[in-house]
Amino acid sequence: MPDQRVPVVAIVGRPNVGKSTLMNRVVGRREAIVEERPGVTRDRKEVEAEWNGRDFVLVDTGGWLPGGDHLDAKVSQQSERAVLDADVVLFVVDASIGVTEEDDRAASMVRRSGKRVLLLVNKVDDTNREPLIWDFVRLGLGEPVAVSALHGRGTGDALDALVALLPAPVEAPEPAADGEAARRARDVLSVALVGRPNVGKSTLFNRLIGDERSVVHDMPGTTRDTIDTVIETPGGPLRFVDTAGMRRRSRIDQGTEYFSLVRALQAVDSADVALLLIDATEGVTHQDQRLAERVEGAGCPVIVVLNKWELLDAEARALVQADVERKLAFLGRAVVVKTSALSGKGVHKVLPALSGVVDEYRRRIPTRQVNEVITLAQQAHPAPGGARVLYATQGATDPPTFTLFANRELPRTYLRFLENRIRDAFDLGQTPIKLRVRKRTD
Ligand code: GDP
Ligand code: GDP
Repeated sequence: MPDQRVPVVAIVGRPNVGKSTLMNRVVGRREAIVEERPGVTRDRKEVEAEWNGRDFVLVDTGGWLPGGDHLDAKVSQQSERAVLDADVVLFVVDASIGVTEEDDRAASMVRRSGKRVLLLVNKVDDTNREPLIWDFVRLGLGEPVAVSALHGRGTGDALDALVALLPAPVEAPEPAADGEAARRARDVLSVALVGRPNVGKSTLFNRLIGDERSVVHDMPGTTRDTIDTVIETPGGPLRFVDTAGMRRRSRIDQGTEYFSLVRALQAVDSADVALLLIDATEGVTHQDQRLAERVEGAGCPVIVVLNKWELLDAEARALVQADVERKLAFLGRAVVVKTSALSGKGVHKVLPALSGVVDEYRRRIPTRQVNEVITLAQQAHPAPGGARVLYATQGATDPPTFTLFANRELPRTYLRFLENRIRDAFDLGQTPIKLRVRKRTD
């Protein structure tokens, strides 16, 4: 495999959690220095490793020391750099210490990077320490995996999980996005503007970017062979996905309805939020409904934009609103914005609506508050058959994902109930919410 790039795995974690020990364990020889003193492995170490026939490079990032002195800051910078260069991050924490503030901050750096992560809870030397791992769920880095780097306990399973996260071996070269551009691309919130042909997508888009304050630039698309547009807004940069056809005065033909549906769905897949445009003069058509269903199915929060609003009289407006409530009921409490893209009326409400939805999507709720809400909900309405949630925590954002530890299976209807309670308590609007249930016996 001459041209194939070997995937890079960065090990991140506070000093002394056992990164070097883990690295030695994986590599099977004493390559990195291990010493019982924070910050000994200052240099970035890279070693080649192999598991189940997959080669990869392991990079010890030398620890993460937020704040601190000059050297600490440099080490952290290096660590951050290593994360950005990596394909997968091995995030290591110490079961004997629990979640520290440094863990929290390093975790948020890793989450921001958008990289795939495997969360390893080290120093789980025996079964007694096993329950300690659940506290780390709240780092928002997915399900914790228990290991003991020192004794080799669980490391085989951890490596299996790691290899599963590596990118599939590729024959074709990677698209030529340099590290910086790729990083920017991940930080920027992306929006798909979708709707049937002629509903006013291009007109609305040109209105949105026509704003004096927005600095507009094109970027290679997040989907194949497309061009995205990034605009600077007071609330941060926004990336509009697949906009080649929208920028120009004379647009390229958007093709058949089917083709534009396919294209819209590709855009939605790489977007954080979708603006679903509807031609208000036509009401909610069957096509609009289908598109909305697919967008919803992709787990993307939706903002409904009723365009050409100025063409409707009061009676027609009431009818369309009722239409939305009825035919798009499955979107839940979707935000609805009315615009006249042609005249620009109402367009100023689009960006605030976007940032509102995105805030919900990225909301992180403290574990204590989640548990309070769950406890109150259970007091008001206990689950049938003695089922009970013992502990709950938000394991991830984008969308908000909660892990419920329960003594036994919870009925679907009950989960619905809990979901609604969480949604109401934290004003999550219509953002998709995921609940995961894990059984726990104690
Ligand atoms: P790093 O600097 O964060 O990479 O951490 P090291 O690999 O240097 O480990 C720090 C200390 O934790 C050393 O004394 C290790 O022997 C110890 N250690 C590492 N892994 C384990 C483990 O699985 N169990 C126990 N009990 N100690 C461990
Ligand atoms: P797209 O195919 O979804 O990109 O739709 P366009 O932006 O090309 O708009 C289709 C047609 O609708 C054009 O003739 C626009 O001028 C017109 N149009 C767009 N927005 C409005 C609006 O708010 N009011 C009215 N009356 N016409 C609009």
